[in-house]
Amino acid sequence: MSADVSDVIAKLVADRAGGDEPVCLYGYDLDALAGHVRGVVAALPARCRMFYAMKANSAAPILRTLAPLVAGFEVASGGEVAKARAIDAELPVIFGGPVKTPAEIAEALRCGVTRFHVESELELHRISESATGSGHVADILLRVNLAGPFPSAKLAMAGRPTQFGIDEAAVGPAIRLAISLPGVRLAGFHLHSLSNNLSPDAHLAMLELYRRKVIGWEETFGVRAEVINVGGGIGVNYVDTRAQFDWQYFTTGLAELVDGFPRHWREIDFECGRFLVAACGTYAAEVLDIKHNHGVDYVLVRGGTHHFRLPASWQHSHPFSVLPVPGWRPNSPRPEVRDRPVTVVGELCTPKDVLASDAAVGAVRAGDVLLFSYAGAYGWEISHHDFLSHPHPEQVFVSDGAGDPGR
Ligand SMILES: *Cc1c(COP(=O)(O)O)cnc(C)c1O
Repeated sequence: MSADVSDVIAKLVADRAGGDEPVCLYGYDLDALAGHVRGVVAALPARCRMFYAMKANSAAPILRTLAPLVAGFEVASGGEVAKARAIDAELPVIFGGPVKTPAEIAEALRCGVTRFHVESELELHRISESATGSGHVADILLRVNLAGPFPSAKLAMAGRPTQFGIDEAAVGPAIRLAISLPGVRLAGFHLHSLSNNLSPDAHLAMLELYRRKVIGWEETFGVRAEVINVGGGIGVNYVDTRAQFDWQYFTTGLAELVDGFPRHWREIDFECGRFLVAACGTYAAEVLDIKHNHGVDYVLVRGGTHHFRLPASWQHSHPFSVLPVPGWRPNSPRPEVRDRPVTVVGELCTPKDVLASDAAVGAVRAGDVLLFSYAGAYGWEISHHDFLSHPHPEQVFVSDGAGDPGR
């Protein structure tokens, strides 16, 4: 069994295998999640705070587990504001997202959102107007889209043209506008530039770039930042799962770096999604058939990219292990592949429905169950659930060995 899948989830799947319905589920180990996030938060140096970027996985049991452990939730829509408030009426909530409607802004102010991350001058006007209309002054960070250069990571939000934030070249007018509007208070800057970065040194170098940039804006435009939000983007290694981002090494370097930050930067916010929740989730899918077409061994599962679009979206072969299921009831030979690379596909009528390709397996048979690890972030959340109208996977949340019925 792969060390990447927790024993409780492997047992849960083993208990269901060999039944009347093929196994197809997401299993989440909430105790493992809590343990991981406690360790991540405990290693943060003074002034640094960890928010949870809810878009990675906003299932209620995940949010309930994380709420007491993190500084708050980062949300990117009115729907996420509502989900956050359904968990906790008081928890700090910071509101980002590339474009926000006037109704979302008004509702967020009513719900006591802590800070807005502002993406344009028009959005500054919208927030100021909504805030003055309801008797608020909204704390805001200006999200700046830096020119770079940045360490290479798969999804870059800045350093190349993207729709996010305010162009670095236009930050001066945005600062002046933020200072002049009555309904907003400029609390600092927001810089989320990349996703799935696996190198702690590259991440530290990026934060050093942020330090120089913000100090430069403070000097040039005569402002003082209190809060610097350095975004998320700490990665998960889906290719070599034994070589994960070294958080202890990173936070040691971070402590030195933050020591050199100006004293008036009282709060350095991280807002991570993937790094917090990926490891707690496993997608389990039973093998329905195996065939050899044009030189390739295909393993076909109950499920696919409509449940778990992450590997198709990132164009990687997702890591999995095989849970051997001894029983075989059909009155027919049991197809199997041994010691040959396989391509794992789902039940959709498209050749893009691929979860893993050219993957080495010892042996896999129809009726066995594949366990895809690191499926807790951007798995179910980003998938096209109803394409072809197959049933949805079960969502099982386990803590203290007990299941949580979930949403
Ligand atoms: C998606 C997102 C995050 C979280 O990113 P991860 O790569 O999951 O850590 C943080 N901040 C912003 C603005 C985002 O869009």
